[in-house]
Amino acid sequence: MELRPKIISGPCSAESREQLLQTAEQLSAGEIDYFRAGIWKPRTRPGAFEGSSYSALPWMLEVKEKYGFKICTEVAHPDHVEAVLKNGFDMVWIGARSTANPFTVQEIAESLKGVDIPVMIKNPTNPDMKLWIGAVERMLNHGLRDISVIHRGFSVYEKHLYRNNPNWQIALDLKRELPSIPLLCDPSHIAGRRHLIYDIAQKAMDLRYDGLMIETHCRPDSALTDKNQQITPSELFDILSQLKLRDRREFMDDRLKDFREELSDIDQDLIDLLKKRMDISEQIGSYKKDLNMVIFQKSIWENAFKQNVKSALKSDLSEDFASELFKIIHQESIVKQSNIFLNSDDEN
Ligand code: PEP
Ligand code: MN
Repeated sequence: MELRPKIISGPCSAESREQLLQTAEQLSAGEIDYFRAGIWKPRTRPGAFEGSSYSALPWMLEVKEKYGFKICTEVAHPDHVEAVLKNGFDMVWIGARSTANPFTVQEIAESLKGVDIPVMIKNPTNPDMKLWIGAVERMLNHGLRDISVIHRGFSVYEKHLYRNNPNWQIALDLKRELPSIPLLCDPSHIAGRRHLIYDIAQKAMDLRYDGLMIETHCRPDSALTDKNQQITPSELFDILSQLKLRDRREFMDDRLKDFREELSDIDQDLIDLLKKRMDISEQIGSYKKDLNMVIFQKSIWENAFKQNVKSALKSDLSEDFASELFKIIHQESIVKQSNIFLNSDDEN
């Protein structure tokens, strides 16, 4: 059985109610997971069409209600987040220019705190994997759990085959560091030209990407933004039907392997942290010995224990698990400290 990638499609920009509804109607003939349209368009230079802004919100809602699509758009400011959350959006993405700016990402992450909505993060315009990962971390730090990343290529100055250089290695390196975060490809913004989209989409499938974001427009030649890279919904269906997809079983096996590797990295981190904690306990043991203090100080332990269990509960760990864990760690610390007392007694 083949594994179908997640498909996100729709126009680059929401230009008018009629354009959105017509594109959505054509897309409703195929299997699309999310309908996309940019409402606030980050243009490189001023003076070009900057999106229909807040007036496009009810059009998107109409697409959702009429065709049953889940809807998504780019957010670049907390005001955008507030507006889309009030208007029934199912997902948001952070655009390439925003990912390049940690202040912006931070502000958006803060405005999404406590909201259970999937967030996709496009790579920054510059080829900097750490900046991309940093944006993911900012979202995770604010409690967002359903995060994916979109590879849309990196800016080029000299003329290039592609509008944005794919630099596949950066996306694959990110995948290695964050194996459980789904990776999508945006062949439209990498290609910049319609005829290159298929090959890029196929390459993404060969490299085990989890989904595709491809721009479609009911009349691509008259699109107000990214006209050379938009295709019609029926051209999209042709591309999708020609893609050679990976076998589901093989894909799942690889995914399980990725998760297991991630778990074993985390286990090693836990061991390193426990070692660090025990080293500090031993140092405390030496001080206690020098100052003739008892090893076990009940009220200090009880306070720390309560605090730890409380904070573990906030991170969705069960009370039983957290109590057992901290008791056993404490027990081991006492053993380490007792050894310090015993060893130095031997020396005397
Ligand atoms: C878009 O998806 O239309 C867009 C503006 O993308 P990016 O942020 O990748 O340039
Ligand atoms: Mn676009």
